[in-house]
Amino acid sequence: MNASSPEEERVQHLRALLTRYNREYYELAAPSIPDVEYDRLFRELESLEQRYPLLQHPDSPTHRVGSLEGRRTVQSVRHRQALLSLSNGYDEADARAFDQRVRQMLGQETVDYCCELKFDGLAVNLLYHRGQWVQGATRGDGETGEDVTANLRTLTEIPRRLVGMEFPEWLEVRGEVLMYRQDFARLNEVLCQQQEKPYVNPRNAAAGALRQLDPAETARRPLHFFAYGVGIVEGLQRERPETQGQWLQWLAQQNFPVNDRWRVVSGITGLLDYFEQQRVHREALDFEVDGVVYKVNRGDWQQRLGQVSRAPRFALAHKFPAAEMLTTVEDIEVQVGRTGVLTPVACLSPVFVGGVTVSRATLHNEQEIRRKDVHIGDTVWVRRAGDVIPEVVAVLPERRPSTARDFVMPRICPVCGHSVEQLTGEVAYRCTGGFSCRAQRHQALWHFASRRAMNIEGLGGKLLQSLLDRDWVSEPADLYRLTVHQWASLPRMAQQSAQNLMAALEQSKQTTLSRFIFALGIRQVGERTAQDMAHHFMSLEAIMAADEAALLDVPDIGPVVAQAIRAYFGAEEHRHWVEHLVQEGVSWPRPVSAMQPALQGKIFVLTGTLTNYSRETAKARIERAGGKVTGSVSKATSFVVVGDGPGSKVAQAQRLGISLLNEREWEDFMQKQEDKA
Ligand code: NAD
Repeated sequence: MNASSPEEERVQHLRALLTRYNREYYELAAPSIPDVEYDRLFRELESLEQRYPLLQHPDSPTHRVGSLEGRRTVQSVRHRQALLSLSNGYDEADARAFDQRVRQMLGQETVDYCCELKFDGLAVNLLYHRGQWVQGATRGDGETGEDVTANLRTLTEIPRRLVGMEFPEWLEVRGEVLMYRQDFARLNEVLCQQQEKPYVNPRNAAAGALRQLDPAETARRPLHFFAYGVGIVEGLQRERPETQGQWLQWLAQQNFPVNDRWRVVSGITGLLDYFEQQRVHREALDFEVDGVVYKVNRGDWQQRLGQVSRAPRFALAHKFPAAEMLTTVEDIEVQVGRTGVLTPVACLSPVFVGGVTVSRATLHNEQEIRRKDVHIGDTVWVRRAGDVIPEVVAVLPERRPSTARDFVMPRICPVCGHSVEQLTGEVAYRCTGGFSCRAQRHQALWHFASRRAMNIEGLGGKLLQSLLDRDWVSEPADLYRLTVHQWASLPRMAQQSAQNLMAALEQSKQTTLSRFIFALGIRQVGERTAQDMAHHFMSLEAIMAADEAALLDVPDIGPVVAQAIRAYFGAEEHRHWVEHLVQEGVSWPRPVSAMQPALQGKIFVLTGTLTNYSRETAKARIERAGGKVTGSVSKATSFVVVGDGPGSKVAQAQRLGISLLNEREWEDFMQKQEDKA
């Protein structure tokens, strides 16, 4: 092949690109493309190098772990045993091929594997000398990393010393440093407020936090650590673990945080079952995982399998379907929300991401569009994680076509034609049409009827649209004035469904003060604020009469919220709505006093994984109602909430005769307690 063959040019181009992306990802913690795109380019380079062996080069990114360069200002550390990367698999076929390869090389019918979560953070190496933690370093290029001991010392969960009778002379503990999703969201909020660039995902935020030059800054950014293996082990003769599973147990006994979702399974069926279980539970975790890792369990077999250039042969990272993808913006539309806010939405070329096909993604507001520099026609990086609305993470400016167009926020509402205004101090533009704007009316009524507000079962978006099309509802109380014949005449409705709906409307009239306030859809007033107001004022009359000073007395209500509440009840139209709803029979019991939160004195213990809640959100909900969450079961525990894959806490609770609640029972229980407000 001559020097300038198209293949060689492509190889050079790919190497340059991947080197740049490696630098952005590993050194700057600011990638400019999603991982799937990186992986695609990486695989293309790998297959070109395989097809044309003359193009192989030891410096190629395909032979490298991480990035070669480090920060000049930081001390580098040579690992005693290299930290490798992992080979990746993307589907069942890759997992099967891995198992087959392993069995063939070992000459075994079936092999036991230790399966673990693949934490989406960054690898660190912790060095212990005679039981004492002496150093912590990043993975770096696998041979040499950066000394981040001072920064890692801010993680109190890393044991300072080992326990037991026999200490290895030297021990390297490997694990992942990561940031919980909630902490990531909070950190980005702060960075945005300070006009600094937010991180694109928790992984990069963790990398950025760990590599702060000032450890005090790392300490301000909450990080966590999970241990998943060891490197060099010198000494430790008597009780040396022989399998990966035993090592994980040993690490846990040594007080290293070891995530308890690991399992030892047999053969390919075991691997695929484990993959599926973890894929389903992925979103319930407090942190991000991008797949699972399969490791041959027996240590001697791991040794026999050895390694290829950048990864061990005994392990495979089986990745989950990507939650981040590239696609193009075909148009930018504007949606009008419940409170009149105009939200620009990107209409995308449909793309399969996070398990579903996505064709729309929120762009939040005009400022966000400018900050991310989104144009119509751009190639963009989109993310959809769990139930979160898909979002545009970043634009790839180098792929912008010459036909790309700028977005302009309309000056009149695209739905009702009223003027659009931007209130001072607000980023958002609002339609001034209020309830006369059909979009706002639809959203407001939908909110009013929703489960956590008036809970009118069966009254969904389509039915409301039919009502609006007929101009039958001009204020919320009108919903209660419609006749059974009117309901029955709507599309997809019949006599029976109309009667059911009338019954649901009737039932919804018995509500609580906090639900009623929440249902009104006052700007800035979410469920929590509505509860606080109900607790504090105890009656609707008192709330409507409260001036700003009185509202500011409510814990957690600040000037912006107080003003919004005043503005709402200051409008005569809204006072009429409230009056009419009460006339239609909407009523509530007097709330319990704020001095006795519903769950005061109740202690909860959570075990296993909940489907709809992360640990943090479940804890927050309990604490909001005045309860406490503790880590271990004792006589003082009131309830143990049991998710999937619970631990020994269940048996302990049973021994002590403590009530167990499954997720559903706990949710119902919480709802009842919250309704007392
Ligand atoms: P990797 O993240 O695919 O896998 C190896 C790493 O997995 C280990 O170093 C360790 O940190 C981690 N890990 C998590 N849980 C583990 C467990 N239970 N056991 C063992 N290891 C575990 O590999 P990598 O070399 O760190 O990074 C390569 C990947 O990074 C690429 O596939 C790509 O997706 C991404 N990347 C993206 C860009 C970009 O620009 N977007 C650039 C470079 C790399």
